[in-house]
Formats: sequence, structure tokens, C-alpha cells
Amino acid sequence: MQTTELTTRAEGVIGRCQRLASFSEDSDSTRRTFLSPPMHACHQEIARWMEPLDAQVRIDAAGNFRAVYPAAQPNAPRLLIGSHLDTVPNAGAYDGVLGVVLAVALLEELRGRRLAFAIEVIGFSEEEGVRFGAPFIGSRALVGRLDHELLGAFDKRGISVQKAIESFGLNPADISQAALDKDVVGYLEFHIEQGPVLETLNLPLAAVEAIAGQSRLEFTFLGHANHAGTTPMHLRRDAIAGAAEWIVTVERVAQELSGLVATVGKIEAEPGATNVIASEAKLSLDVRHSSDEIRSRATNSLIHQAREIAARRGLSVRESTKLNQRAVAMDPFLVGEIERAIVKTGCTPHRMVSGAGHDAMILAEKVPSAMIFLRSPGGISHDPAESVSQEDVEKAIACGMHLLDQLASSPEFYKRTNRA
Ligand SMILES: [Zn+2]
Repeated sequence: MQTTELTTRAEGVIGRCQRLASFSEDSDSTRRTFLSPPMHACHQEIARWMEPLDAQVRIDAAGNFRAVYPAAQPNAPRLLIGSHLDTVPNAGAYDGVLGVVLAVALLEELRGRRLAFAIEVIGFSEEEGVRFGAPFIGSRALVGRLDHELLGAFDKRGISVQKAIESFGLNPADISQAALDKDVVGYLEFHIEQGPVLETLNLPLAAVEAIAGQSRLEFTFLGHANHAGTTPMHLRRDAIAGAAEWIVTVERVAQELSGLVATVGKIEAEPGATNVIASEAKLSLDVRHSSDEIRSRATNSLIHQAREIAARRGLSVRESTKLNQRAVAMDPFLVGEIERAIVKTGCTPHRMVSGAGHDAMILAEKVPSAMIFLRSPGGISHDPAESVSQEDVEKAIACGMHLLDQLASSPEFYKRTNRA
């Protein structure tokens, strides 16, 4: 691969991401939700890029873009490479889209060469959960979890998932045909990091070894409302002051435990007046770690400390769990191969845990899956300022090509052909 050709290829990738950002439901910013009209245009555009590649393109019944680049021989195993094509409102141009555009670039970089496995480029229809409040609709169809309950969910306009699929010209009865075939031996996803870690380390790429588990809870501290002017400090039962002490405890606990992140992102107080001591403070808690045991121990400790703080201050506290999602390990073989490919690209290998959820976490239920992160300048994502550097995209393409060649010559990779 010539450096100048690689530079041109990377420029093309960035240009295509920016072009897809123009397919939007909003005129002045990017918003492309599940099965919205601009998603049609997005599919057509990618299909047009793929015309010279002799790939078989289809849109499955869950609205996922799929294109199979054949192997050298028939009946060969298949590797999936992709990410999601939907976006948040006021989105950047790279979250999700970059992973699909890079997959197409890797096929182009093969220049007609066929490998011992087929490659299916996949652009998931829904990952962000914006339209129906339920994320991963696209990838859930591949693992057989786009069920009746999800099909019956409504968006803000009262349209069900089922109806949205029909309006897009697809047939919900065909959803089972979106499921992973038995010949699929792995899933790879390139994605921007969406955080500051690689930038801080001055590294372009990382192999993702796990996707963190998440606990989400709601806490309510209960005290007593009273006059802010006439109630002496030692006779108060101030719910906000108790909540505040606990919030600082949450921060300290997370700082002391390696790899743990814990966040109180929301607080609501009652009655909510300047001259009234708060009787109630409702808070959210979000705890994440790659080890489910550490996450659950930390969460239990934070519940315990909330009770202790409340008791000492004459308050009461109650909590309820909103989400308890297990961590998902990426496939160790693929993670090792990604690291080798990163080294061959001339970069220092780095393993990291993804604090955000991704389609790879859903695919991992059925097939060996792994992710490659690209450095996010400024750690910015879900914002028009989201970006990626051309040099890092060049490295991602080079790394992807090394990875494809490694897998093509790996007996261990083909052993997986029989796992179904
Ligand atoms: Zn994403």
C-alpha cells in the first residue's frame, strides 16, 4: 500500500462520512433516526459506492444495510464488519457512520482480491435509541431479539416499530431472515472512542477488550421542608444537603477504585424554592465497570453510604434499580489479532474498556466480536464538533488490512466455522 494512495483513501473516507451527515431529518444539523426518509438516501448512497465491488446488497426487514463481498470459494465462512447508520439529534459525522464507511474502504483496498472468507458490510438501522427509546433495534434483529414487545413500541407520533418497518417498504414478517446465518464467524466494528483516553495517551488506535456493564439507579432523600430564615441550622432535616454529601462520596468512591466510573447526572429538589429547606431530593446514579463483581460491590457500597448519611442527618432514603446490564467481553482471539495488526501498522498497542454500549455488545451474544477504537480529538462526540484525524483513518485502514490478512491465514479463525 503506497502512502499517498492510503492518504487519498482516508480523505475519501472522511469525505463520505461528511456526505452522509447531509442526509438528515433536520435542515441545519444531522439527525437520522430509525427508518426515517433520509435513511433511504443514505442506503442508496452506500449502495452506489459499492457498485464496482460486485457485492450483493440488500436491506433486511429490520432496515439494516447489508452487502456481501464474496469469498474466493463458494460456501466459505463470513466475517461481518460494520457499525450503525442512525444518529442522535444534532449529531457529528463519525459516530457509527465511520465504521460502515471504513468497512467499504477495506473492500476497495482489497482491489478485487478475494479472501478465504466472505465479508459482509453491515450498517445497522438503529443503535442510539432516539426514535423509540429502545436502543440496538438493528443488531437485536441479527441475534433474534427483535421481538413482539419491541415491534409494538411507539414513537412520539404514535407510530409502532412494526408500522415504521412497513412504511419503509419492508415486511416485518421477514425479520427472522435478518438473523445471523450459521456461516458468520465474527463481527468487527471500527468506532470513534467518544472519550479522551487515546488522545491523552497520544495513541491513534486501541483494541477494545470489553464493554463495561452498567447499573442505573434512582435515589430519593427525604427530609422536612421548613422556613429558610427561621429554622436554625442544627434543627434542620435538609434533603439537598444530605444528597450533596452523598454525591461527593460517589465521586470519591469512583476515584479510589481503578476503572470505575460513577456519575450523579440529575438532581431534582422539592419544593424547589429559594427560601424553603428541601424536603426531597431525587438523584440518578450511573455506575460502570468491566467487572460485574466490582460494579455490583461498588453500587451496594454507595447504597449503604446513602443510608448512613441519611440516618446521621435525620433523613430517610430509598432507592430503586432502573438498569442492571452485564459487562460484555470481546473475543480474546480477535482482540489479540487486532493488537498484532496495530503493531504491524507501526503503532503502540493499547487495550481499553468501552464505557459506552455498542452493537458489538449485542452481536457478541452469538458470534465472536471485537472493536477497534479511533482517537476522538478533544474526546468529543454526539456533537457537530465530533471529528477524526485523517492520519488516524489512514492507520485504521492499514490496521484493518493487516487484520484481514492475518485472519485469512489463521487456522484458529477457521476453527470457528464449525461453532454453529
Ligand atoms: Zn455509535
